[in-house]
Amino acid sequence: MSPRIKHKHCIGDVLGDYTLLDYLGLDQGSKIYKIKCNVCGRTRNARISDLRHGHGQSHKHCSWTLPKDNYLIKVRRSWADMRNRTTNPKCDKYKDYGGRGITSDDYKFFINFYDDMYESCKSHMDMYGFKNTTLERIDVNGNYEKNNIKWATWKEQHGNTRRNKKFETTHPTGEKIIAKNQTEFAKEHNIDFSCINLCLNGKAKQVKGWTFKFIEAK
Ligand SMILES: [Zn+2]
Repeated sequence: MSPRIKHKHCIGDVLGDYTLLDYLGLDQGSKIYKIKCNVCGRTRNARISDLRHGHGQSHKHCSWTLPKDNYLIKVRRSWADMRNRTTNPKCDKYKDYGGRGITSDDYKFFINFYDDMYESCKSHMDMYGFKNTTLERIDVNGNYEKNNIKWATWKEQHGNTRRNKKFETTHPTGEKIIAKNQTEFAKEHNIDFSCINLCLNGKAKQVKGWTFKFIEAK
């Protein structure tokens, strides 16, 4: 239960995540306060009647004040799609995401995703445009977390899916392994994940003796 605000409130009162900063006057009979979020520091104006019953008392409601532009549309859609494929079993793509244990728990609230991804989205869109800006995970077997997501073009995104393609790797000792998961292979053999990628794309010859090649599906 959200704490009910008492009828008389004072500057400095805390309601959920917000502190009342300043009384601004009446609007259609409702008191308007300037409030400050104690999680992210944003300020906005709010009707006390809206806050009183617990509506709008969470940091997640800081998204109400965001400037509406094309970048915001892209960030919001990407967030909604990400949440859908990781949390909604009815989503077609769920089996490849949430169904495989991929989570986006750090981004339950849109505002947190916005804070981490808006600026980089803006730069990417300025360079590649709205349609060619997609959300990508750096390690395709990892979760949607700050250090594992970035904006990418469709072309890069396509290259990334190759990381899930079967590959064959050979060691000078004669050992031969067929694997699909580059991240796991890297961990198991204590080698750098990105080096495997370089080898598979012909940009390096070997890593610690291992050579790699994709096995193309026929
Ligand atoms: Zn906030």
